[in-house]
Amino acid sequence: MFSELAKSRRFLIAALVLPLAAVIFVALRQSHPVNITGNSSQGGPSDVLTKMQEALAKDRALLSNYEHDQTKLRAEVIRRRKLHQDGQISQDQIKEAERDYITAVNRVYEMRHAVVETDIAITEAVLGEKVLRMPELPVNGYSETADLKRFNGASKWSLKDAPQVERYFAQTFGRDLPVTAMGQSDTHNRLGFDHHDSMDVALHPDSAEGKAFIDHLRKAGIPFIAFRKAVPGASTGPHIHVGRPSGRLVRH
Ligand SMILES: [Zn+2]
Repeated sequence: MFSELAKSRRFLIAALVLPLAAVIFVALRQSHPVNITGNSSQGGPSDVLTKMQEALAKDRALLSNYEHDQTKLRAEVIRRRKLHQDGQISQDQIKEAERDYITAVNRVYEMRHAVVETDIAITEAVLGEKVLRMPELPVNGYSETADLKRFNGASKWSLKDAPQVERYFAQTFGRDLPVTAMGQSDTHNRLGFDHHDSMDVALHPDSAEGKAFIDHLRKAGIPFIAFRKAVPGASTGPHIHVGRPSGRLVRH
């Protein structure tokens, strides 16, 4: 799963002439993960959920190993650059270490993204059931509990409107909106819920950025559910789901 990027010649060539920080930046701008295994055709939704929680725990352990490798490889690049400056090793030996480092950076990024995405989807699967049991909000109705902030905006939101909110965020905060899921993903399919017209944003609803983002959505009449708490076993669960509440997928 990491091979396409690692093999991308243009990417490598670009990366090798950049300093480390820029290399990381380029690496992080690319990639598209999904790692968790699970099969929704076996067992009921709670079986799937349990399996995914187990898979998530394994991926977290792997992530920690990958991060450790990345740190070591970064140190190696710096060490070789110094040796090269002192005339002790060739440019090729630096390049070799840089290649290994870039591969490690990509691997960490992919795994980190997969972990966050699954974590958020698990939170929605668990708390989303609770949302569906709550009384529906009137149009433009807003409600806030210890777990959730909900807004039933009147706008006809669809994923086509996503660029507008992304633009708002980038212009206001000078970085990309941290979108973890745009529409339906494999993870949602496995968990059995319909996320085709929703996007998830890894912002804590009670953070300064999260609050500003929520204000923007309310002003624009865009419906959302802000999940304020992680479910047990999750750690990055708090996030903002932009769009209508997710129903269960109808299975045929
Ligand atoms: Zn969502």
